[in-house]
Amino acid sequence: MKSQMNIMVKKFGGTSVGSVERILNVAKRSLDCQLLGESPVVVVSAMSGDTNRLVALGDQVFPHHRGPAYDMLVASGEQVSVALVSMAIERLGGKARPYLAHQLGIFTDSMHSKARIQKIDTQKILQDIEQGIIPVVAGFQGVDDADNITTLGRGGSDTSAVAIAAALNARACEIFTDVPAVFTADPRLVPKAREIPKLSFEEMIEMAALGSKVLHIRSVEIGAKHGVRIHVRSSFESREGTWVVPEGESMESAVVSSVTHESSTGVITVEPLPKGTEVLAKLFTALASKGIIVDIISQLEIESGQRLSFSVGTDDVVAATGLVREQFGSHVSISTMKDVSKVSIVGVGMRNHPGVAAKFFSTLAQNNVEIHLVTTSEIKVSAVIDRPLLEKAAQSLHSAFGLDQ
Ligand code: ASP
Ligand code: MG
Repeated sequence: MKSQMNIMVKKFGGTSVGSVERILNVAKRSLDCQLLGESPVVVVSAMSGDTNRLVALGDQVFPHHRGPAYDMLVASGEQVSVALVSMAIERLGGKARPYLAHQLGIFTDSMHSKARIQKIDTQKILQDIEQGIIPVVAGFQGVDDADNITTLGRGGSDTSAVAIAAALNARACEIFTDVPAVFTADPRLVPKAREIPKLSFEEMIEMAALGSKVLHIRSVEIGAKHGVRIHVRSSFESREGTWVVPEGESMESAVVSSVTHESSTGVITVEPLPKGTEVLAKLFTALASKGIIVDIISQLEIESGQRLSFSVGTDDVVAATGLVREQFGSHVSISTMKDVSKVSIVGVGMRNHPGVAAKFFSTLAQNNVEIHLVTTSEIKVSAVIDRPLLEKAAQSLHSAFGLDQ
């Protein structure tokens, strides 16, 4: 029944609803595809700049506040765009119904500002579709057991859209955005970057984790888990962009499909720590309990004990350094690097291709790029390097792995 309805979830990001003209364009696009026999379900973000403005306003009243009031505040931008898009559809002669998360039933846990979706009621949407009404749903927000408004983390309306697509068993989830596709690298850093027609969920998850901002990482995880095909495309052009699909679906299986970067990350080095694993267990438990996510870890035995380096987000450097100091007092020396970046290569083809790490290191060596920390997985190699060398590193890796236009 559901699949006969030919449901397409269409998510429009902040720039796509950034002005009255663009809102009318969203309405037109949605009505056009209804005419072609699709049943669109529209999910929207706040108008561009609105969420930042609300965050700044909240910070003025109570810096770093987290909880129901804060989430109610930052979720309000979506209420405006849902209403305007619905009105635009009606103005163009269509039928629309606006929904906030609690009206529809997008239930989450109570982790304010990083809530996770647990369940979505689809009954109302299905009824609307049967009557030719276009449901317009607020992204980014949910409601918890206690009826508090929650939000899913910045960029989270992608996750709302893919979760709704999963719940409806939709044909696909289209993410309309201000870039025409996912690129082999950020074109601002690597001008020779190309559009990628198809990517696997796994690659996109790695890319999102390693710094690509195109899709909210949870949205890709949900897509992977429920097999929701995600189409990232321009909201200003009608051509296709990038399909994110299960691995093996006729991929050109490039060894490396992209060079991804995070321009700022922090590295903390401590030595000499006492010998033994327990010391590490205790330190990382303490970091985790403060919600600090540790990315790359490297440990080396030295004569006087062990030397430990690990990377964390730049925002967490101060807190992490404080914790280390608290645990080890003045017995250790701690050094931090703040002006560093992470550059990574990602590709499922790496799995059965030898020599990828060799090429990665020799390319960086030829360009005199020193590596501070390195980590690998089956489908990625990542290194922390000095920030001034990021551009050169990314461009030369992009060429070396045959990704240039
Ligand atoms: N409006 C929210 C934000 O700016 C959610 C989103 O755009 O995906 O983070
Ligand atoms: Mg986004």
